[in-house]
Amino acid sequence: MEPRVAYFSMEIALDPALPTYSGGLGVLAGDFLRSSADAAMPMVAVTLAYRNGYFRQSIDDAGKQSEAPDPWLPHTRCTLLDTAIQLELSGRTVTVRAWQYDVTGFGGAKLPVYLLDTEVPENDPRDRTITDTLYGGDAAYRLAQEAVLGLGGLKLLEALGYEIESYHLNEGHAALLVLGLLERGNDLGSVRDRCVFTTHTPVPAGHDRFMVDLVHDVLGERRLLALESIDGLHEAQLNMTYLALRGSRYINGVAMKHGEVSQGMFPHYPIHAITNGVHAGRWASPEFAALFDRHIPEWRADNYYLRYAVGIPLTDIRDAHDGAKARMTQEIKARTGVALDPTVFTIGFARRAATYKRAHLLFDDVERLRAIAKRAGPLQLVYAGKAHPRDEDGKAEIRGVVEAAESLRDVIRFVYIENYDLTLGALLTAGVDAWLNTPKPPMEASGTSGMKAALNGVPSISILDGWWIEGWVEGVTGWSIDERTLYDKLERVVVPCYYEHPDEYAAIRRSSISLNGSFFNTQRMVAQYATNAYFADEKRPERKAPAVLMPSTGSG
Ligand SMILES: *Cc1c(COP(=O)(O)O)cnc(C)c1O
Repeated sequence: MEPRVAYFSMEIALDPALPTYSGGLGVLAGDFLRSSADAAMPMVAVTLAYRNGYFRQSIDDAGKQSEAPDPWLPHTRCTLLDTAIQLELSGRTVTVRAWQYDVTGFGGAKLPVYLLDTEVPENDPRDRTITDTLYGGDAAYRLAQEAVLGLGGLKLLEALGYEIESYHLNEGHAALLVLGLLERGNDLGSVRDRCVFTTHTPVPAGHDRFMVDLVHDVLGERRLLALESIDGLHEAQLNMTYLALRGSRYINGVAMKHGEVSQGMFPHYPIHAITNGVHAGRWASPEFAALFDRHIPEWRADNYYLRYAVGIPLTDIRDAHDGAKARMTQEIKARTGVALDPTVFTIGFARRAATYKRAHLLFDDVERLRAIAKRAGPLQLVYAGKAHPRDEDGKAEIRGVVEAAESLRDVIRFVYIENYDLTLGALLTAGVDAWLNTPKPPMEASGTSGMKAALNGVPSISILDGWWIEGWVEGVTGWSIDERTLYDKLERVVVPCYYEHPDEYAAIRRSSISLNGSFFNTQRMVAQYATNAYFADEKRPERKAPAVLMPSTGSG
């Protein structure tokens, strides 16, 4: 089938060997494309090649992070296209070529992903590095990258002969696509008819803004005037979120709550919500995948069948988890030398070390934590996550956690594992006993690591934010906490449940799978984008701001 949808994303986690992502946004994009290929969606995708990757992380004994480039060689994994395009940037002509990586779906359908690359001999040395490093460089570098993504990506798809109906801007980074469509003589209305925009963050730093002088220097006078002509500047800056909002017919947040929060941030645009998911086949551990294959053989092709995990015997659930935990324990020993005890209640916490995610929260009262481990039952803690190289607060967060854990080492075994990535994410979300999430509401737009955990029978202990507002059933899929109740709930509810009521704990594992694994997956998400966003027509009802029934958050 001819591609009708083009998906643009600054980062896409395509394969563990390709360091072309930094965190949740890229992992989500990769999972979404896999499920799109599973569904044989008529889709192509565009991103940048990032020959230097994001970075490799090392952490010393004091918790200090250092970074090294993480290069990869596109020709080992991708095919170079014959077609290249040219763009005018900073007064120079920049040649952009593309590497093709095919995402293969469950039924064999192939979804081509084009990784744009300016490392071409004929380019000026300043331009050859534009696509080298994900989230590296200064504002001029970032603007050039986003121009290559939005303007270059559009031009490439045209050169390849695609006739695209819907362009999906996965986050504002690709918003210059709107400008590209305008440059082709479309008015704003017909541009809008063709664009769909997903916003991913209520954190202001997540919304790219560029000074007008810089826009003038990098994009040139003519493009600046075109942006001004559609009122495309916001507060005298090029704000990529506002440009995307202005140029899109369908706009959504990534969880119901995030839709509401985004509606409050951007009251002049109707904002819907489609909750994120994870690719079930990719994130189910080998142990649970084998168990599902035995009991619900069609779960890979159709994730809705995970609902029927409710009929799997608890002993099988427990055995599968024991297997995943043993495998994690071995791997952690091999990587770090730390020998975890597989009989001890193990809490996992792994995510980007951004301050709003508050990795330190569990350690705010170390004496209380020590007392819980002594009174309620032994605890082990497994942490991981990278701070952006220029995020000093994020790095301080890692140091704080490592120092606090050090002061508890007589009672609580702790490990901070370097270099959080897809492989480690899969190992931890399946191997620990509970998945901790402590964001500062409403900053967690969705979160997806807890969905991976749920699929593997690992309940969440989480602040009610993002997806967890929807996935939370108290004592059934996990537990809600806030800053004040975290310790009490651990001591009185969670740890006793684990040690004193193992059948109850196994039942919670099972209902995490049947209630949350069956819904918080990218198969459902792709179907919602197709129905609500991509293949919409005039017969659809007038779009309104979301009126969503939210679960009560009063009890718990
Ligand atoms: C799933 C995943 C994330 C996203 O986790 P959050 O819950 O959104 O914090 C980030 N990085 C990696 C490597 C992942 O696998």
